[in-house]
Amino acid sequence: MEFTDPSEKEETFTGKIYCANCSHCVLFKQQVGQTTSYVLRVRCNMGMWKKQSGEEKIYKYFTIVRRTMDSCCYYDAMGDEKNFIKELRRNLPIRDEIYSY
Ligand code: SF4
Repeated sequence: MEFTDPSEKEETFTGKIYCANCSHCVLFKQQVGQTTSYVLRVRCNMGMWKKQSGEEKIYKYFTIVRRTMDSCCYYDAMGDEKNFIKELRRNLPIRDEIYSY
């Protein structure tokens, strides 16, 4: 079940939250110009990542482990965070890679 209004959800998770372990953290392909290449990006589909201007902020996939929140009322853990983050750190690309379709 998805919640769109923070007041509808009873619990707000606090402490260090890794967005990578949240079901609302979405990985997608972003085409590079008019080419057949793409880069990997992540976004929060609850709209919690914003620039100061209010515009949505997206991040490069290889930085995903750095996306943390002190608290988030939408956090929806996908499993054992510790092992997941450990594996993710091991498998993430070390830079912004360009892929081809
Ligand atoms: S809903 Fe909260 S915890 Fe989940 S990805 Fe968005 S900001 Fe991170």
